Amino acid sequence: MSYEENVRRVIPYTPGEQPRGGNIIKLNTNENPYPPSPKAERAVRELDADILRLYPDFAASELVRAIASYHGVKEDQVFVGVGSDDVLAMAFLTFFNSDKPILFPDITYSFYDVWAQLWRIPYRTCPLDEAFFIRKEDYFCENGGIIFPNPNAPTGVWQPVSMIEDILQKNRDVTVIIDEAYIDFGGESCLSLLAKYENLLITRTFSKSRSMAGVRIGYAIGNKDMIQYLNHVKFSFNSYTMNVPSLCLGVASIEDDDYFVRMRDLVVAERERSKKELTGLGFSFPDSMANFIFARHKTMQASEIFKALKEKGIYVRYFSGPRVRDYLRITVGTREQMDALFAALKQILTEGSQGA
Ligand SMILES: *Cc1c(COP(=O)(O)O)cnc(C)c1O
Repeated sequence: MSYEENVRRVIPYTPGEQPRGGNIIKLNTNENPYPPSPKAERAVRELDADILRLYPDFAASELVRAIASYHGVKEDQVFVGVGSDDVLAMAFLTFFNSDKPILFPDITYSFYDVWAQLWRIPYRTCPLDEAFFIRKEDYFCENGGIIFPNPNAPTGVWQPVSMIEDILQKNRDVTVIIDEAYIDFGGESCLSLLAKYENLLITRTFSKSRSMAGVRIGYAIGNKDMIQYLNHVKFSFNSYTMNVPSLCLGVASIEDDDYFVRMRDLVVAERERSKKELTGLGFSFPDSMANFIFARHKTMQASEIFKALKEKGIYVRYFSGPRVRDYLRITVGTREQMDALFAALKQILTEGSQGA
């Protein structure tokens, strides 16, 4: 007998590398290349240090109020957490408690199966079609719940609200979570479906479109009962997850909508330019509505390109799984960063074809 027999063993999620240093171009974890709102910076600089002595507001009321008013929903429809990873982990624990498997796509955010394993939730993956689209019929069956991102990660594919409504109509008796981590960059949100479907939960994050990955704020919007169930689980775990500086930064970010829209539009414009450049270099990709492009090259292997880019100090994301190993997920950076990427790719592809 050993203590190890009672260990909860899990295979953890592997985050993208976080290299530090001057000459690195980081296009591997879908961070925003622009700084957060200067108003957020100022707000946190002006924080009275004495407030750090006290526990934060466990209900995160000011942030909840700001988010609710931004989306035009009631305050009791908003749940906040330490990044949407925290929100999603709580949602899995709260809503996925059936003996039937939860369903999600075979190619999707690679944290879902980790949470399912951690909380001992049975799950089944549904293969995306050849173009990386969800086949809605796969979800028209008995299940313990459904989750997928829209736009999906790492493909960038966005699917229409009408498709999600079809899935909701056939799944009235389980929780359906739509992870809208990237919705600010394109596509239409499912928020309009909340009034009609009490079993729909939508999650969002400040990490990508609001340039605040380091602050850790995520949230969920759903009906009042759902949010209450989530809060009961959260308060049975750790009441004070949202720290004082991040609450302050979050409110300031929501309040500076002009800046948010301007930075978001810059990323979207650069994404569209990057699509053209990548096509010119011999890449193809599903049309992305997110802040990244999931691209494969017509001749050179993705793993080779990944390595060669890294040697030049350019980090993109490579996944070695069965259906995705020919692809690179490239986060959209600034125009200068993307120009450096295209120049490096040109060089790598030329050398590659000469070597072959
Ligand atoms: C980045 C990401 C998240 C988590 O983001 P947080 O930084 O934890 O808010 C959740 N879902 C998807 C699909 C993501 O890409």
